Formats: sequence, structure tokens, C-alpha cells
Amino acid sequence: MFKKILVTGGAGFIGSNFLEYMVPRYPGIVFINFDKLTRSADPGNLEAVEGRPNYLFIRGDIADRDTVEWVIGEGIDAVVNFAAEYHEDRSMSFSGGFVMTDVVGCFNLLEAAQKFKVKRFLQVSTAEVYGSPIEEEYFGESALPDPGSRGLAAKAAADCLARAYHRSCGMHVCISRCTNNYGPYQHREKFIPAVVYRALRDEPVPIMGDGRQVRDWIYVRDHCRALELLLFKGRPGRIYNIAAEEERTNLELAGTILHILGKSSSLLNFVPGLSGYQGRCAVRPDRIKKELGWKQVHVLEVA
Ligand code: NAD
Repeated sequence: MFKKILVTGGAGFIGSNFLEYMVPRYPGIVFINFDKLTRSADPGNLEAVEGRPNYLFIRGDIADRDTVEWVIGEGIDAVVNFAAEYHEDRSMSFSGGFVMTDVVGCFNLLEAAQKFKVKRFLQVSTAEVYGSPIEEEYFGESALPDPGSRGLAAKAAADCLARAYHRSCGMHVCISRCTNNYGPYQHREKFIPAVVYRALRDEPVPIMGDGRQVRDWIYVRDHCRALELLLFKGRPGRIYNIAAEEERTNLELAGTILHILGKSSSLLNFVPGLSGYQGRCAVRPDRIKKELGWKQVHVLEVA
């Protein structure tokens, strides 16, 4: 069905896992990884696909309209947009970069996709755009975004833009909103790798606020399989929540990791929380389960 798929941000955590999963699985499709190589990227993540005949890397910035138009004009059938300047903590001080990549970059991709009649556009978003639900509630796809930080507001704006290209131009757009991922190639600053890395060195493990923030943790490959389904079978104009339904408080998860590593809980170091940092991120993945038959395979083990 598709001959060329453009994957933006493919040198980052989830993008590289997606490419590692998709490139060998679809040898008849050429995957073009378009990445600016920011500090969160690691080209070493792509060793498994480097040199494959259906994989190509282009260093570029999605905020650069001319380059985006040139790449998409080279016969791209589908776009999967992972590129993001997203880091919850840093977003408190660097909102300018987020707007250029997440909003302007997404706009450039959509414009070029519209111009060259791209068949599918998958906008990889996050469940955090919904904000925190009240107590035990969960967000469904019809909930309105209520982002708690400027970085997340930029993601939500990109989602709205993408949907508008479906509504006003008839483009086949899908939006995925997934919860927190873990797995290979994740940046050392992210929660689970940071806890493991510091604990192994007997360094203090920072826990923001009281550590009672609740997150749902999904294995990155389960997310990638969900994205594969959305790319090929997602219904146009739809938002799909993706979640493992594996909620833990940060404190609980850090404690479990310390326990598994045989380290003392005295390594936990409580640091002041950030304003806008979400209390709970909770969505139901009912739509993707019912419509497309997706379900998570991996379970976060609790010792
Ligand atoms: P990441 O930071 O690891 O990777 C982002 C990639 O985008 C990097 O390789 C970076 O170089 C590239 N990039 C940044 N700006 C660019 C630009 N202007 N042009 C081209 N490339 C650019 O991020 P990730 O954790 O892999 O997340 C990817 C996407 O998935 C994001 O949109 C994020 O919101 C979403 N998401 C992430 C999680 C998670 O737990 N990590 C969960 C749900 C959704």
C-alpha cells in the first residue's frame, strides 16, 4: 500500500524503537528517518537498521519549510511525526523551541502532506495533553486537552492543527495519545533510566514533590505495535488513546527499582516539585482495543 514512509524524530527514543520494529518487518517500504539530531537523539540507537536497503537517514529540521517540502515531494506516501522538543522539566524554561518544532514543524509537515497528497498522516502525541483527571476518573478521546505546561500546550496545538487538516482538507490524519513509555534507547534523564543509573552508582535518586504523582507505564514496543495499527488501519480524523493500564506512583516505582537492585530506600531524595507538573495521567485505551484489536503484551513487573 505504501512505498515510502517519512518518520520524523526517528533517532529519538520511541522513533528508533519504531524503526527497529518496522524496517525489517516491511522490506517493501522505504523508511526515511528525518531528524535534527537534538540532544535527545542518539544515532547509535539505529544500528539495527543502518545499512538496510529500505532505510535512509536525512538530517533536517521540520521547522525548515523548504526542506520539509523537498523531502515530502520525493514521493512520500505516509508521515509518522515523532519529532518533538519535549522534556517536561526543561519545558518550564525553553518554550520557544517547543513552538518551532511541535507547532511550526507539524504545520510544515501537514502543509507539504496536503500539497503532495500524502495518503496517511500519523501525529504521535501524548496522553499528558489531557492534564490530570479528577480522582479516579480516566480520559477518553473526546475529552478536551487541558495541558499543564507550555511544552504540552504546544503538543496539544499540533494535535488541533492535524485534526483541522482532516476536517477542512479531508486529509487522512490519526492522532495517538500514549502514556509514559519505558524500554531500550530511553534517554538517561528520563524517570526509569535515571532511577536505575543513579541507584547503580549509589547516588541520590531525585523524587519530585512527595512522589505521589501517578503515571501509567507502557513498554515502548507495545506503543510501536499500536502505532503500526494506526498507520495502516486507523480511521481518518480519529484520536486514539494508548495505555498499558499499569498505574504507579513515582515513589512506588522508584522504591520497586531500588528493591530489585538491592539498594536502600535511603537513596530517595525528595526535591521541590515543578509547577504545572501533573498529579496523574490516566487514559483508557478502549477505542484502539475495540476498533483495531490492540492490546498490551508486556507487564511492568512489581517485585
Ligand atoms: P525524544 O526526545 O527521545 O525524540 C525526539 C526526536 O525528535 C529526537 O531524535 C530529536 O532529535 C528529534 N527532533 C527534535 N526536534 C526536531 C526538529 N525540529 N526536526 C526534526 N527532528 C527533531 O522523544 P520520544 O520520547 O521518543 O517521543 C517522541 C514522541 O512521542 C513525542 O512527540 C512525544 O510527545 C511522544 N510521546 C512520548 C512518550 C514518552 O514516554 N517518551 C509518551 C507518549 C508520547
